[in-house]
Amino acid sequence: MIEDKMQKGKVWLVGAGPGDPGLMTQKGRKVLEEADVVVYDALIGSGILSLMPAGAEKIYAGKRSGHHFLKQDEINRVLLEKAREGLRVVRLKGGDPFVFGRGGEELELLIENDIPYEIVPGVTSAVAVPAYAGIPVTHRDFCSSVHIITGHKRKDHTYDIDFKALKETGGTLVFLMGIASLPVITAGLLEAGMDPETPAAVIEKGATANQRIISSTLADLAPDAAAASVITPAIIIIGKVVSLADQFSWRQELPLSGIKAVVTRPKELSSGLATMLREKGAEVIELPTIEIAPIEDNGELTGAIGALDSYDWIVFTSPSGVRVFMDELLKSKDIRSLAGCRIASIGKGTEKELLKYGLRADMVPSEYDGRTLGTELAGLLHEGERVLIPRAKIGNHELIEELCKISGITIDDIPTYDTIYTSQEWFDAGEAFDDPHTYALFTSASTVRGFAKAYPGMDYSKVRAVCIGKQTKAEADGHGMVTYVSDKATLGSLVSRLEEVCSQ
Ligand code: SAH
Repeated sequence: MIEDKMQKGKVWLVGAGPGDPGLMTQKGRKVLEEADVVVYDALIGSGILSLMPAGAEKIYAGKRSGHHFLKQDEINRVLLEKAREGLRVVRLKGGDPFVFGRGGEELELLIENDIPYEIVPGVTSAVAVPAYAGIPVTHRDFCSSVHIITGHKRKDHTYDIDFKALKETGGTLVFLMGIASLPVITAGLLEAGMDPETPAAVIEKGATANQRIISSTLADLAPDAAAASVITPAIIIIGKVVSLADQFSWRQELPLSGIKAVVTRPKELSSGLATMLREKGAEVIELPTIEIAPIEDNGELTGAIGALDSYDWIVFTSPSGVRVFMDELLKSKDIRSLAGCRIASIGKGTEKELLKYGLRADMVPSEYDGRTLGTELAGLLHEGERVLIPRAKIGNHELIEELCKISGITIDDIPTYDTIYTSQEWFDAGEAFDDPHTYALFTSASTVRGFAKAYPGMDYSKVRAVCIGKQTKAEADGHGMVTYVSDKATLGSLVSRLEEVCSQ
């Protein structure tokens, strides 16, 4: 059982699944979100790394070019030391921690030292990677067992597997860590008398946007995989069930299958867009480049909230603007205090945020930008009316320009939050955008600025930027990115634009 707050000074050995964050267990996710320290491996997908809490210490334990990596006994020691410091330590491992994950070894030192620990199982790649490639590891018509085998050779380079016994089972054979030994594995099975025509496949980077399936037969798999230059991680699957892959290929049918979408919105706003993209088959990396920081002890805002009766209109220009304003209002009042005000909202996302508080916008402009909002709202205003605009410190000036054209109205333009740029150290932007299937999604000019600040000096001409609105596109163009702009300033339109761009 996980209590409300996780116990301190404890280690959780958590299985992250094969890559898609949707395949991590609810318990694993909850534990990760409350971790003080996360020790993670190379095989953990970026979609899962983006779930690590901003404040947690992140220790990379895997191999990757240019990075130091930890040896097994160093990892064991880090887990022990951090737990002894009274921290909540999550050891995040690919797939399931006990399926060829050396999970057992990492527990030994903890047990010796009486450190409390828990195991959170994960979805193993041995089963999930075939499933994402449309291969059921068992099927009543084809086999009655499935076997998960290591392809890893021993230190003395021998490979101690009883191929005859494996062949006799008649079951599906799944080899992990087997790419280097693939010719030895197929030769061993052929020698043991397995039918050379047995369907066989290698699945590379399963359950990610870069998933690749090399389908073949037992006799031809090794040369076919070599010709395709297969790289790790990849699994080998051998058995009649492999022939079902074409029939059950569900994932390739999704419109954004094979696409990596980098979502740069602030964390609290990214989930809606991320869900839309995942439903269409994209691999999503949530990479907030800005954070919303409410202005503390904001006398102007509390003053305005104290005098709500005096306003005729309140204008919201972003979902964050709504949230920060409502948080402050609800400290002393409730929504009845807005009964006398009409509400203007710049667009759909803002309207949706208002609805969460039981508020409906009285006006939304025909186009979702500051100038159109200003022009169309100006048409509704009467002399003597007062307008409150609680919004970002650096707000769009066109809105105010348009409203100021009307004489005899009062405008209280109150800054309520700052936009702070953030970066995520686990994300290698240069490497990510080398892949032509990676796209960045920008929903405001500030997310573009945040991205540029987080990854200075990179070659921005590699960044394929799908933008909401002209201002966002202009900012991305200014950095030399390859830009595309959505027809409308909505998330739906942004996703449709990405689909169009990808299908070209
Ligand atoms: N504990 C992990 C396995 C660790 S061994 C699990 O349960 O999945 C590492 C091996 O797992 C890799 O060499 C590869 O064979 C396999 N693997 C892990 N993730 C994979 C992925 N996304 N696609 C293909 N194979 C993967």
